Amino acid sequence: MNAVPPPSASQIAALAGLLPNGGLLTEEVDLARYSRDWSGDHFGRPLAVARPSSVEEMSALMRFCHAERIPVVPQGGLTGLVGAAVAADGGEIVISLERMNKIRSISPIDFAMVVEAGCILEDAKREAEASDCLLPITFGAQGSCRIGGNVATNAGGFNVLRYGMTRDLVLGLEVVLADGRIWNGLKVLRKDNRGYDLKQIFIGSEGTLGIVTAAALKLFPKPTQIETALVGLRSVEDAMALYARARRDCSDLLTAFELILRVGIQITMREGKDFPDPLSQPYPAYVLIEVSSGGLIDLSNMLLGFLGSVEDIVEDGVIASTRAQGERLWLYREIMVERQGRGGRYLRTDVSVPISRLADFVTDALAALEKARPDALAVTYGHVGDGNIHLNVVPPEGMGIEAMEHLFEQAEAEIFTVVDRYGGSISAEHGIGRVKQKAFLERIDPVTLDLAAGIKDAFDPRHILSNGRILAPAAAVDYR
Ligand SMILES: Cc1cc2nc3c(=O)[nH]c(=O)nc-3n(C[C@H](O)[C@H](O)[C@H](O)COP(=O)(O)OP(=O)(O)OC[C@H]3O[C@@H](n4cnc5c(N)ncnc54)[C@H](O)[C@@H]3O)c2cc1C
Repeated sequence: MNAVPPPSASQIAALAGLLPNGGLLTEEVDLARYSRDWSGDHFGRPLAVARPSSVEEMSALMRFCHAERIPVVPQGGLTGLVGAAVAADGGEIVISLERMNKIRSISPIDFAMVVEAGCILEDAKREAEASDCLLPITFGAQGSCRIGGNVATNAGGFNVLRYGMTRDLVLGLEVVLADGRIWNGLKVLRKDNRGYDLKQIFIGSEGTLGIVTAAALKLFPKPTQIETALVGLRSVEDAMALYARARRDCSDLLTAFELILRVGIQITMREGKDFPDPLSQPYPAYVLIEVSSGGLIDLSNMLLGFLGSVEDIVEDGVIASTRAQGERLWLYREIMVERQGRGGRYLRTDVSVPISRLADFVTDALAALEKARPDALAVTYGHVGDGNIHLNVVPPEGMGIEAMEHLFEQAEAEIFTVVDRYGGSISAEHGIGRVKQKAFLERIDPVTLDLAAGIKDAFDPRHILSNGRILAPAAAVDYR
């Protein structure tokens, strides 16, 4: 990436003028919290942090940056896992959405809400619930990530199998383009076939095509009943057989189906006596099943009946009898995600394969990993109802940085080779950013690359937006 000289004093003064009331931060002490992401693996000191508080301010900021060729990167809650939201080494201005965090409207009749991009996901979910509605995007980082980040990464989560990815939940967007123009596609219409569906190009574009400033999101009736069970199984194959049955027998009431292999449960059990072995004995595989519905269905009997009908597959299980117990079962998964790296670095993968091939894929990928790196610990879990699995790799304790980098490279190559063999994706949820770029570009076909580069040029001709994420950095960008 081209090194960029820090903005001149006159540019800083101009930017500060565009963003009144502390909208521009330049002091080292203020920049720190915008410099490191959730994983702690990615660090980048921004040239400055711009914090517009309205779409008009965002538009003026981008018009200026476009004219002056100042590179920028939009930032939400910094929970993205591919190193895309922190400033690149060459120097960028971070644009934080944190001051654009209002809920503009909510309509239970339209089952829709309009939310600014800086709104924290959990706040938006809470507001929807206050209107007896459900905003279904749900995952571990929901207390920190922001709606704009969810849109930009096309976030998935636990409830995708029932409600779809963020892409399926966006009715409209408001976006500030690289040159500062405002694209107003903010509408709550359910059906609209007028020409190209431009909002889709921004969803999942990881900040490379425009800055999302607000989103109109689909809501659903808030479930009045939620039932959760944790079951133990002999194998991933049995877990997938259970999924096939659950999908048919629980129909659309199935909201989550999360696989955790034994290692993951053991990680949570390290927390001590509050997290004992959850079932009467250890099992190779566990599944968290959740079903939810409105009030007229006898949901608890349905789940009981279903689990009774799959005794040939399920070895053992517990059904939560209260919401608090259900939330406690979910903690086994959440704590595992937070503690798996023992406070250090580890390799994260989020791959997908066709659901019908997931069990064989896991067997083959784990075997390949074990053969290549028997010293590494594989932590395997995922939203398997979507064919999505995390095969994470934790290095042995005390391993040096260089050896660790080598381990990650080798382990990733082994896993991705098996993904390719199964016709899968090397990124089911987290996106490409900078971390997956090499593997992504090695696999992209020339026609797709050509079209993608053309889209980037059309939306951001000066390559000032998130340069070097998804696609390689524009080589000949002359920023000044
Ligand atoms: C514990 C944990 C669990 C997770 N679980 C899941 C999961 O189950 N499913 C899943 O899909 N993901 C998951 N993620 C990753 C997920 O992608 C992010 O958590 C979230 O969607 C990113 O939101 P953010 O606000 O933190 O974005 P950031 O990390 O700040 O940014 C992410 C990307 O979006 C861009 N961006 C941010 N805001 C905007 C904007 N307004 N306009 C344009 N571009 C923007 C950034 O430039 C960057 O490219 C998880 C992460 C963590 C830490």
